[in-house]
Amino acid sequence: MAITYLPEPFRIKMVETIKMLTPEEREQRIAEAKYNLFNLKGKDVYIDLLTDSGTNAMSQEQWAGVMKGDEAYAGGASYYKLLEAAQDITGYAYIQPVHQGRAAEKVLFGILMGKGQFSISNMHFDTTRAHVELTGARAIDCVVSDAMDPAKRAPFKGNMDVDKLESLIKKYGAEKVALVVMTVTNNSAGGQPVSMQNIRETASVCKKYNIKFCIDAARFAENAFFIKKREDGYRDASIKDITNEMFSYADMFTMSAKKDAIVNMGGLIGIKDDAELFSACKGRTISFEGFITYGGLSGRDLESLAIGLYEGIDENQLRYRIGQIEYLASRLDDAGITYQAPAGGHGIFVDAKALLPHIPYYEFPGQALAVELYKEAGIRTCDIGSYMLGNDPDTGKQLHAEFEFTRLAIPRRVYTQAHIDVMAEALIEIKKRANRVKGYKITWEPPVLRHFQASLKPLT
Ligand SMILES: *Cc1c(COP(=O)(O)O)cnc(C)c1O
Repeated sequence: MAITYLPEPFRIKMVETIKMLTPEEREQRIAEAKYNLFNLKGKDVYIDLLTDSGTNAMSQEQWAGVMKGDEAYAGGASYYKLLEAAQDITGYAYIQPVHQGRAAEKVLFGILMGKGQFSISNMHFDTTRAHVELTGARAIDCVVSDAMDPAKRAPFKGNMDVDKLESLIKKYGAEKVALVVMTVTNNSAGGQPVSMQNIRETASVCKKYNIKFCIDAARFAENAFFIKKREDGYRDASIKDITNEMFSYADMFTMSAKKDAIVNMGGLIGIKDDAELFSACKGRTISFEGFITYGGLSGRDLESLAIGLYEGIDENQLRYRIGQIEYLASRLDDAGITYQAPAGGHGIFVDAKALLPHIPYYEFPGQALAVELYKEAGIRTCDIGSYMLGNDPDTGKQLHAEFEFTRLAIPRRVYTQAHIDVMAEALIEIKKRANRVKGYKITWEPPVLRHFQASLKPLT
C-alpha cells in the first residue's frame, strides 16, 4: 500500500459536530476576544489546537470505567486501582492523586522551597514557573543550546545542559538550590525529548550536591517512545520498562494526567520512597484538594485515569500519535516553513520569528501568527514565546524569550488526517502574505500567567 502516513488505529463511534465560521465572523470574534485566543468561545473554533491538555478523546474502556467509578469519600476502589497502575508504571511507593498538574506543583513546591531559593529545570512549564515564584523562590531554565536553534535537527533537544547546571549550583550555592526539575518531554522547548543518559547524568549531579530531583512527567510516555526510537540500547525495551527506568533516577514527580494519561482532568504526585515528604504532601492535599483518596477528583475520574495510564503507554497509540505529528511536519518541510525540528511529541511549534522576521519579540510574533491561523481557518493555537513568558517578577520588564513559537498542540485521538491537512494548508496560505502581518501591543495584563487573560490590540 502506498500511503505516506499512519492511518488512525481506531474508528469513530460517537461524533461531535464542528463548523468553520465565515472569514468576516472570525475577524469579528477575534476582535471581540481582544486578540487573546483564550477569550474565544469553543463553538467559534473549527480546529482547537490551543492545547493537548485535557482535550483528549477517551476510549470505550475509559467510558466504561466512568460507570464503574467508586464515589466513596474515603478508600474507594477506583483510588486503589489508580495507585496500582501508577506504582506499576513509575515504580514509586507513594502516589497522590490531585485535580491537575498545577495542583501537584502547588502541593509539593510549597513544602520544598521558599524565598531566597532556586529551582533549576531543563525548562519550567508556565504553571511550574508560576508555582516556584508563588513560593518566593526563583525559576531558572538550563536547556541545552541545541534547543535554541529551531532548524538544527538533534535527537534530544529537550536535554538539560548538565555542565551549566553544575556551574549554576556552584554559583548560587547548593543549599540555595531547592529543586532540580526535569520536564519530559520538554514542553516549552517544543515537546522535545530528554534522553535517558541526560536524566541519569542530571540525577548524579543532584546526588553529588544533595539536591532533590523531580520529574515533571506530563508527557512521560511520549518521552519514553522517543528514547526507544532514538537512544542506543532501548530498541527492544518495552515502554513500561523505559518509564520505570526514567522515574528510577528521580526522587519525585508531578504529573498533569491531562496529557499522556489521556483523560480530561487529573494529576498525580509521586514520591519514590521519602515517607516524611509524602506525609507533608497528604496534609496539603487535604487542605487544597480534598481527602487523600480522591484528591479533588471524582471516583469516575480516578477510574478512567487508571485505565488511561496504560493506554498512554501503548506503543501502537504512541506510534500513531507521533506519526501524525511527523506527517504535519513533512508538509511544512515541503512548504519551507520552519518549526522546532525534528517534530516533538505533542505538536508542531512553528518558528514565528522566522516566518514573521519583521515583528520584534516585544510585539509578539508567536501571538501574531496564532491570530492569523484563527482568521485563516478557524484554528486556535497559542503563543509559546515572549508573550507567554511575561515580565521579570523583580523588574517588571518584558522578558525576551529564547524562542518565538506558535504551538499547534494536537489532542490525542481527536482530529483526523484531513484536519491535519487543513492545518498545513492554513500555514501555507499565511506564509504567502506573511510580510503584511502586524505585531501586537498589550493593553491590559494581570500580574501572573498573563497570557491566559491579557487584552491585546494589533499595531498599525
Ligand atoms: C500541562 C503541564 C503542566 C500543568 O498541568 P495542568 O494539568 O495544566 O495544571 C505542568 N507541566 C507540564 C510540562 C505541562 O505540560
